Amino acid sequence: MILHDILAEVQPFGARLIAVSKTHPPDKILALYQQGQRDFGENRVQEMMEKQPLLPADIRWHLIGRLQSNKVKYIAPFVHLIHSVDSLKLLQEIDKQAAKNNRIIPCLLEFRIASEESKSGLYLDDAISILASEAFRAMKHVKIHGVMGITTLTDDQTQIRAEFRHLRQIFDHLKNQFFPEDPDFRELSMGMSGDYILALEEGSTLVRVGTLLFGPREYF
Ligand SMILES: *Cc1c(COP(=O)(O)O)cnc(C)c1O
Repeated sequence: MILHDILAEVQPFGARLIAVSKTHPPDKILALYQQGQRDFGENRVQEMMEKQPLLPADIRWHLIGRLQSNKVKYIAPFVHLIHSVDSLKLLQEIDKQAAKNNRIIPCLLEFRIASEESKSGLYLDDAISILASEAFRAMKHVKIHGVMGITTLTDDQTQIRAEFRHLRQIFDHLKNQFFPEDPDFRELSMGMSGDYILALEEGSTLVRVGTLLFGPREYF
């Protein structure tokens, strides 16, 4: 499927498309860039670090995969949005590395909405204790822009829709409790190649599409 067709579906919802370029070589990223795409998602720090200097500086790099605290420093100078914050400890490290780079790094809190054991992420209570903590309130170099989640790998549309709704409820809860006056808290990162239309219907503002744009994954 080509970029144009996906954008035609995403834009009427006022959402943004993140092209998930993991495992794909820089020339394929550049080809989409030349068609106007600027938001790209990677799930590994190492791969993002290798690609970033090879590509145009105005690409907005989204870190969508699990992030270890000891690797934050490598992406802190340039990352546009970290989607996968799943602990206070990680947020503290992002704050520290962002301060060193004299910037504020936008972050999303990742929630566990899938039924599979393997999927990572916070529960609502975990997020509430992070956001209510003194440690969080002292941070000057991170900004929480919203939430992210990955649904169960299933063909059951009813289940997927319910999981998106659950994430939407988490978003609404946190918005009301912690960010009622904050226009930056507005992102719901949900939806991938197989379910992004459903995600848009359920209020997604950022869809993360890989396979549909780039084809099956290769190795970089
Ligand atoms: C790989 C990945 C995607 C894209 O998945 P596709 O099915 O290829 O569209 C989206 N989100 C995350 C977190 C991913 O790791």
